[in-house]
Amino acid sequence: MERYDLPDANGHFGPYGGVYVAETLMAALDELKNEYERVKADPTFWEEFRHELKHYVGRPSPIYHARRWSEQLGGAQIFFKREDLNHTGAHKISNAIGQALLARRMGKKRVIAETGAGQHGVATATVAARYGMECFVYMGAEDIKRQSPNVFRMKLLGATVVPVESGSKTLKDALNEAMRDWVTNVDSTFYILGTAAGPHPYPMMVRDFLSVIGEESKEQMPEVAGRQPDVVVACVGGGSNAIGMFYPYINVDGVRMVGVEAGGHGIASGMHAAPLSGGAGVGVLHGAKSYLMQDANGQVVETHSVSAGLDYPGVGPEHSYLKDIGRAEYVAIDDQEALSAFHDCCHLEGIIPALESSHALAWAAKVAPTMGKDKVILVNLSGRGDKDINTVAGLAGITL
Ligand SMILES: *Cc1c(COP(=O)(O)O)cnc(C)c1O
Repeated sequence: MERYDLPDANGHFGPYGGVYVAETLMAALDELKNEYERVKADPTFWEEFRHELKHYVGRPSPIYHARRWSEQLGGAQIFFKREDLNHTGAHKISNAIGQALLARRMGKKRVIAETGAGQHGVATATVAARYGMECFVYMGAEDIKRQSPNVFRMKLLGATVVPVESGSKTLKDALNEAMRDWVTNVDSTFYILGTAAGPHPYPMMVRDFLSVIGEESKEQMPEVAGRQPDVVVACVGGGSNAIGMFYPYINVDGVRMVGVEAGGHGIASGMHAAPLSGGAGVGVLHGAKSYLMQDANGQVVETHSVSAGLDYPGVGPEHSYLKDIGRAEYVAIDDQEALSAFHDCCHLEGIIPALESSHALAWAAKVAPTMGKDKVILVNLSGRGDKDINTVAGLAGITL
């Protein structure tokens, strides 16, 4: 394949991406795009970024050979990229730090964010405390009820959590509200977006900040596994942890890339969150063109997943493009399969994985037995599952 160098200057990944926003947001996005272009070429910015990742986040995250599980499956060797060991328990902090450092360069002292399950809200509240910024997190009123520990975490960190009462009172409504805040307060405020979606330059920026995942892996794999993996696999909500793992491998021949979406109750049921693998069409959501779960009238539909972090009807535009050109494959894993992998990982490896990550684990566990023992699968273990114990207990009829 030709050298991959996307997006273009206007944020397009083939027909996807771009900037589909109200006129009032254009100036803010232009300012951000110009500043990021300057920063991209400034080694002092990346030096500070790497310093923060090492001393505050605890990077590089290790790569671990899941030996017992691999043996039991009897096929390919499964390795984990341990993003669960990062400060705050997932990959998200590395992106939040990158954007906060950019905000500081731009002289913005107030940051805002949207959050669904609360994980990105916690990451943003964390970096706001770290860099002395005022922080407002928009969160659907429904989600606030469901995710009270994360709401309290954000408050402990000094953030203000703003309940959103519009629409279905969940993530997509919180995102709309955060955009509205940004338009109103653009001079003082930086919008820290939580996944590789949204209008240009966000999908590119988020990818660049999280590419550290794949870059570290490329360096670590020869040492830990003796070579690069045959397959890299990651779960896909908006697509940030997956693109962070995939991007450095795009130009590496012979490395298969698999993104795992939330199959919910099964693709046939319609109750899922799998715009790429579930046969959805293309549309515009939150400022960019991409695959999108919608009804016959183009209305965004309700999604379902046992994992709150994958419960999003859209997906980052770069994944739509990678799907179309066939460089990455996208599959769905349903709730039951993810839960079963969750428990296997606990019992066989002594690691409680996030329910999001359990989707990627389930795909690896399904495919490993069909591959030779000399083959290598690298799973991006995007986060730890402490946040999910109430969900898992609830499904088992246990109240904690
Ligand atoms: C938020 C989250 C995800 C999903 O977001 P992406 O942008 O698709 O990476 C996956 N895993 C964990 C642990 C998360 O917290």
